[in-house]
Amino acid sequence: MSSSGGYDADVIVVGAGLAGLVAATELADAGRRVIIVEQEPAASFGGQAFWSLGGLFLVDSPEQRRLGVRDSYDLALDDWMGTAGFDREEDAWPRRWAEAYVAFAAGEKRSWLRQLGVRIVPIVGWAERGGYGAIGHGNSVPRFHIMWGTGPGVLEPFVRRVREGEAQGKIVVKFRHRVNHLSTSGGTVDGVQGDVLEPSTAARGTASSRVVVGEFALKAQAVIVTSGGIGANHDLVRQYWPRRLGVPPQQMLSGVPEHVDGRMLGIVEIAGANIINRDRMWHYVEGIQNWNPIWSQHGIRILPGPSSLWLDAHGRRLPVPLFPGFDTLGTLQHIMETGYDYSWFVLTQKIIEREFALSGSEQNPDITGKSWRMMLGRAFGGAPAPVEAFKTHGADFVVERTLADLVRGMNALTDEPLIDHTALEREIVARDRQTDNAFCKDMQINAIHDARRYLGDRLIRTAKVHKLLDPAAGPLIAVRLHVLTRKTLGGLQTDLSGRVLRRDGQPLPGLYAAGEVAGFGGGGMHGYRALEGTFLGGCLFSGRVAGRAAAAAVA
Ligand SMILES: Cc1cc2nc3c(=O)[nH]c(=O)nc-3n(C[C@H](O)[C@H](O)[C@H](O)COP(=O)(O)OP(=O)(O)OC[C@H]3O[C@@H](n4cnc5c(N)ncnc54)[C@H](O)[C@@H]3O)c2cc1C
Repeated sequence: MSSSGGYDADVIVVGAGLAGLVAATELADAGRRVIIVEQEPAASFGGQAFWSLGGLFLVDSPEQRRLGVRDSYDLALDDWMGTAGFDREEDAWPRRWAEAYVAFAAGEKRSWLRQLGVRIVPIVGWAERGGYGAIGHGNSVPRFHIMWGTGPGVLEPFVRRVREGEAQGKIVVKFRHRVNHLSTSGGTVDGVQGDVLEPSTAARGTASSRVVVGEFALKAQAVIVTSGGIGANHDLVRQYWPRRLGVPPQQMLSGVPEHVDGRMLGIVEIAGANIINRDRMWHYVEGIQNWNPIWSQHGIRILPGPSSLWLDAHGRRLPVPLFPGFDTLGTLQHIMETGYDYSWFVLTQKIIEREFALSGSEQNPDITGKSWRMMLGRAFGGAPAPVEAFKTHGADFVVERTLADLVRGMNALTDEPLIDHTALEREIVARDRQTDNAFCKDMQINAIHDARRYLGDRLIRTAKVHKLLDPAAGPLIAVRLHVLTRKTLGGLQTDLSGRVLRRDGQPLPGLYAAGEVAGFGGGGMHGYRALEGTFLGGCLFSGRVAGRAAAAAVA
């Protein structure tokens, strides 16, 4: 790539995850010359998005309409604001990003992706159902659209376009280049400096060596930081853990690869950037230890349907409306108040077959591999093979024919035998009696009836209401659930052009940010909580915005 004006490129992008790739392709489309610097080897190209389930928040889509769902921008914005709970002075930009993002999700997002070749699985999922009231947290309607090909399917057009950009001499990707410092001239960011790391044959997602073999310095008219969040850095997660969620868990699983190290945030802060909402994070409470791990402390999230009985470490049922899939952070708060880091699902074989989905591209070979034949098995063929594999090999699963044996197995898995068979039996027998009528006082059973009125849930996500102690529905299954780190909701404060702001609220000249490092836009467009499927979409939207704005600025 030839340099002009002493620059190595027009724009440098730090991080080859989804946000970085989107920004780079927008820049190349606008005729700008781009260098992407990435600390990992080429095998990990695409970052976290490769491992993702590829679930995207779309509003009023044809897929929703075909399933009888009536949705609108106004309903989605109400849901977003009730979920975000913006209440801080520094929420001004995040709030504006939220409004712009919901408009994107209700507007151009779907057609833009389709035009890039991305296709959508026709059954729409219903994540984060809330359960508090119409203006409280949660999706009023199903909006979680899984892309055909899962995460790799979302990445594919951007990887292809980066490759085309490389062939045309517009984009250069420098792997094993780790940025340590942003350079500035006269207050304007004009480059990056860092270490060249030794070549690595580490497989995708596994930790790569940090041995330094050289240094580099690159100059450009602008820099876009797209370096991801902090989820693999448990020290940082604990450091910024909010008091409202209780004490930080002693034991956590990692839902992200080790490169999600949060290191770049400190580097950008030293250059003068403002970081906001560090205490806002999105961690799951349905984490299970991966029996076949790729990265260290690798946990997988169960995306649960509504039927499993959710118990705390003592075997007490969680309060209404903390049912599976209703309120992730409300449940996390409740669990941390119990003084234990873990909780339990108790369910039946019938429920696991219908309701257990595992998040992650590698856990969904049917959708990732774009196989309709395999996918039809979800409706007719019992539990998907990866779920069965966890049931057999997973360290957190107990499978037994009787409740007494189940309780024995649960108690054997923990340091203290906290589950009392008599108390749990009383709870389950009482719950089972509530299934005798089509109406009842148990709000979870009512929620299951409600879910089954939605065609998508009835087809593949929600088991028929049945008695947990019915031997025909068995065997009984207990799953010990851990806290699993995943998304960082706060980050670099940006304006609606993706320009990074200083502490005085003014743009830091030459610097842009997008994706998870920027709280998916603005420094935290989700506020306190998320509606789900909004992270990949946040990378697409903010990467596009920052790429276009930087392209215009360096014209
Ligand atoms: C298993 C899993 C399932 C998920 N499922 C979904 C889903 O269904 N829907 C959804 O919306 N979201 C989902 N997500 C979240 C989503 O994938 C991420 O939020 C998103 O991909 C983040 O993209 P990013 O580009 O911001 O960051 P990343 O993908 O983390 O990329 C950042 C890149 O920057 C590099 N980097 C960092 N620091 C430096 C440095 N100093 N120098 C050079 N390079 C650096 C990193 O190595 C990395 O490659 C999931 C995530 C996971 C892990």
